[in-house]
Amino acid sequence: MIAEQPKSDSQSTSMNILETLRTVWGFDSLRPVQQEVVEASLVGRDAVVVMPTGGGKSLCYQLPALVTQSLTVVVSPLIALMKDQVDALRLVGVEAAALNSSLPDFEIAEIEEALRAGQIRLLYISPERLVTQGMIALLKQSRVARFAIDEAHCISAWGHDFRPEYRQMSLIREHFPETPIMAFTATATPRVQRDIAIQLRLTKPKLFVGTFDRPNLTYRIQSKDDKLAKMIQAIRRHPGEGTIVYALSRADTESIAEDLCAEGVQAQAYHAGLDAAVRSRISEEFAQEKLHVVVATIAFGMGIDRANVRCVMHDCIPKSMEAYQQETGRAGRDGLPAECVLFFSLGDVERVRRLMALDPKSDPGHQGALLEEVRNFAMARSCRHKALSEHFGQSYEVPEGGCGACDVCLEGLIPLANADEVGAKIRDAVLELQGLLGASRSGEARGFGLSYVARVLRGENKKEIRERGAHEIPHYGIFKGQSTERVTSWIRQLVDQGVLAQSMPPYPVVTVTESGREASQFEIYEHGAIETKSSRRSKSVPAIQEAYDEGLFEMFREWRKRVADDRGVPPYVVFHDATLMRVAAVMPSSLARLGSVPGFGEKRLADFGDDLLRIIEEYVAGKEVTRDQPLHGAPPVERPKPKSTSNQKQTQELFARSESVEAVAEALGIQLRSAWNNLERFVETYPSSDLSPWIAPELESRIRAAAQEVGLGYRKPIFEALGGEVDYGPISVVRAKMIAESEGNGATEIREGGDPEHAM
Ligand code: ADP
Ligand code: ZN
Repeated sequence: MIAEQPKSDSQSTSMNILETLRTVWGFDSLRPVQQEVVEASLVGRDAVVVMPTGGGKSLCYQLPALVTQSLTVVVSPLIALMKDQVDALRLVGVEAAALNSSLPDFEIAEIEEALRAGQIRLLYISPERLVTQGMIALLKQSRVARFAIDEAHCISAWGHDFRPEYRQMSLIREHFPETPIMAFTATATPRVQRDIAIQLRLTKPKLFVGTFDRPNLTYRIQSKDDKLAKMIQAIRRHPGEGTIVYALSRADTESIAEDLCAEGVQAQAYHAGLDAAVRSRISEEFAQEKLHVVVATIAFGMGIDRANVRCVMHDCIPKSMEAYQQETGRAGRDGLPAECVLFFSLGDVERVRRLMALDPKSDPGHQGALLEEVRNFAMARSCRHKALSEHFGQSYEVPEGGCGACDVCLEGLIPLANADEVGAKIRDAVLELQGLLGASRSGEARGFGLSYVARVLRGENKKEIRERGAHEIPHYGIFKGQSTERVTSWIRQLVDQGVLAQSMPPYPVVTVTESGREASQFEIYEHGAIETKSSRRSKSVPAIQEAYDEGLFEMFREWRKRVADDRGVPPYVVFHDATLMRVAAVMPSSLARLGSVPGFGEKRLADFGDDLLRIIEEYVAGKEVTRDQPLHGAPPVERPKPKSTSNQKQTQELFARSESVEAVAEALGIQLRSAWNNLERFVETYPSSDLSPWIAPELESRIRAAAQEVGLGYRKPIFEALGGEVDYGPISVVRAKMIAESEGNGATEIREGGDPEHAM
């Protein structure tokens, strides 16, 4: 219901949008997905919006409220985040409020009054509060123009963070049948997307999926040798800015924080074992930029909106690619360059696996497979941006000369000089190991797991090696003295090249392929020395395009800190670094020139313009500088943008044309396993698809029978019920179809036909 909006053609609407964006936020343009979401919102559509952290979800629901001068109700489970957003909105002159139980009665009464009077544009509330009778009655008197549900995946039991209280939000539709509802989330598989639409009872919702790549993040995977020194170097590259180190256990967080402090880095451990008061003090100090380094278990970070987190490190391998994306996503939310370092060791993979096994609620097969994906990611020699994008079903073409923002592309890979010799030795060793086992009943080659092969090659003297006689093969111990990581990476590269084949989890074994038997030339690469850059910011991606005066920028930061303290808001709410850097580049001499710097809306200019100009005057007094420098007007991070076509769409089209899984893998240049993953998502989205192009009907019936016997809960029991003879790919696809069928036929189709351009 957008009754207040005058009927206007789309052109004047988009002028309205831009005008509001400029005067209020000082931004020049919307990002492509934002534009589409805002337009859909203005015509009153329901929507499900999937956008990665930092993608710019908030503007999607804030802008429509201002453009149409109407009320958006934002439902969010994170109180700290609500407060930040309300502070930020008030700072740019927008009437915003959050209703929560921590407020004194008189303030609640004031907000209620303002709501009824139609003075509030954005109201933030928790899901629990929303569904109370009093709140619903109040909202009915307040002419709500739209609802925005943040963290909407919490409503789905299929998501990774189900909160039962979210379920009650189906009441919204009951009480406000005409009011558009938009659901926002940073992570959602197609099943979760569909579930969100069902649970919220959305009407013909439009689906928007943003780009998952984060071009301003530089990803590095490093070995754990000299870990502390590497951590300290990384932290020192970003003085005065935020760093989060994620560690596996409470004890780890404490020992790392202690080590850092001993080296003069002020760091705090943060974990669930601490007092709630201590935890909230740490969060607050971090947000207020009084504390810069936090070593935390994953409990830290949710709801922390500090925009200048410049570095996220993982002391231990994360549990899934989703977790990795989410945790690294907390870096560089302001769009400026930030770095992500993952310290990798195979020992940690085992540690995590053992911990998972202890959790009675866990499904070791499924979680093991997720962990395996991260391990493969860490050990791969392909561009990290590409690997991450592909994991989320989007293609990423690595620009010529590399992405410029990952260890593989930056530090380069050095071809191993004696790769032919090393490759042949590994292949021969695997053949010898196969010889120990003979063929299976079905005539397939049997083999050992990848890490077993590595142990044999390194000549480890272990019981499980002697037991199988593997210490007697001719190639036992030929790589004695080499690290496990190195040997494992060589073997894995042969798998990638198709010299060796690796079967599907849970017991993946390596065997030599037909072509591998004949091969005599091999390509093996190693990482170049990891260069530690001493510059304040990573050189590969300039913070802003212009050279800016660092001294002046520091003065701005000090001033910003004082303003933030006075107003009791975090500094990034006052100004983002990028904005102040640009001012330090331009050195404007007038309010008019200052106002043309991106990030200055009218209110900020009026409130802070004079202060900034005065600081500049003082700073330049007596110096030879040219004021009023031009700005290139380019976004802060501009590197060769790979053609990021909507690969998911492309995949869907390919599968819709019944292309085989192999053909799709080939067409998209992705691994077969990822193609099966994509097919699983396709079937989740289109559950009525006929599977025969990919899975022979007999095989489908076999998998169905097995799944009926052991249940649909997990993949592994189905795999086992089939005697381990069927790969996980077909099992997952058939299972997805069966789940969709059991959810009820004709589950809401949330993808709209006829509008493919906008749908993805
Ligand atoms: P999310 O909620 O999706 O994590 P936010 O809404 O917090 O992301 O936005 C992330 C950052 O991007 C914020 O600092 C915001 O100011 C900035 N931003 C969002 N949209 C734009 C835009 N169109 N132009 C410039 N900056 C933007
Ligand atoms: Zn790269």
